[in-house]
Amino acid sequence: MISEQREKPLASWRGKERYGNELLECLTVIFKSAGCTWSKCRMCSYRHERYNEQSCEKLYHRLAAQLAWVNAEYKPEEYQMVKIFTSGSFFDPAEVPPEFLHDVATYFCGKLVIAETRPEFIETEVIRTFVEKLDNGTWEKPLYCAFGLETSNDAIREKCINKGFTYADFTAATSRAKAAGAGIKAYLLFKPLFLTEKEAVEDMKQSIRDASQHAEMISMNPCSVQRRTELEFYWKRGAYRPPYLWSVLSLLQDSPVHITCDPLGGGQSRGPHNCKKCDYDLVKGIREYSLNADRELINALMETPCDCRKEWEYVLEYEAPFCMPLTR
Ligand code: SF4
Ligand SMILES: [Zn+2]
Repeated sequence: MISEQREKPLASWRGKERYGNELLECLTVIFKSAGCTWSKCRMCSYRHERYNEQSCEKLYHRLAAQLAWVNAEYKPEEYQMVKIFTSGSFFDPAEVPPEFLHDVATYFCGKLVIAETRPEFIETEVIRTFVEKLDNGTWEKPLYCAFGLETSNDAIREKCINKGFTYADFTAATSRAKAAGAGIKAYLLFKPLFLTEKEAVEDMKQSIRDASQHAEMISMNPCSVQRRTELEFYWKRGAYRPPYLWSVLSLLQDSPVHITCDPLGGGQSRGPHNCKKCDYDLVKGIREYSLNADRELINALMETPCDCRKEWEYVLEYEAPFCMPLTR
């Protein structure tokens, strides 16, 4: 028997999110699941967060207990949007039993739900059923399927991230999700392993342009160094530096569409950072911009006087590409 007291999500918090021109109250929940079936991305430590047992029935009870915990902690009338993550893919039936999808759609009926998944788990009928249960007429698209696309460049996604799917897999999944009545959100990863600062900036510029053809929402995640990852191995040996906040700002400034960005670990050596002196204000400003979409704010932040700006410009100009043998 599973104690409902003991089970709770890996994390959950309340905040605000921009949706179109509105600011919505948002609940974010990271459910503990059977874990990512891929589990091979070079920068990811979420894959360690999983139940060891795989029995579908026990898994279902554990997830149901987490939903009961959410119900006890948060009043549904206090938020309109829900962002759902697992330590992998919400729509992977091996990770989240289909019965639990039914419970989630029923419980969050009337909310705007954003759920993260890998593309291979988008099955039109599963998504259509989920959307129908969720829909009470409040939102034109009550569900957004969110994909960790990371980059639109297949070589970078394969070599620097080891993501295990292609851009074509992503676009095909967006078509299936749209056919089922869902919207699309794309997460992009800024500066994975093995890229210079400049290569990473160029990759993001192109990825934002490409992703905006398929996704109504784009969130850019500046890479941070999580524990027990291949990325951490390189970082500890001085072979990786997280992106400069200057680069993040320049991308937000130039983006043809509004993209959101929450620089996790911002200002710390494991997260996106500049020189420590200017980091706090820039991180705060980037978070504000995600909510208010005020390009003038980004323009003003870009003019923040700090000596490290010159260092960043030097790095962009002179950093040499990572030298990796093409064969073994
Ligand atoms: S980033 Fe996503 S797909 Fe990759 S290992 Fe982590 S949870 Fe799995
Ligand atoms: Zn600085």
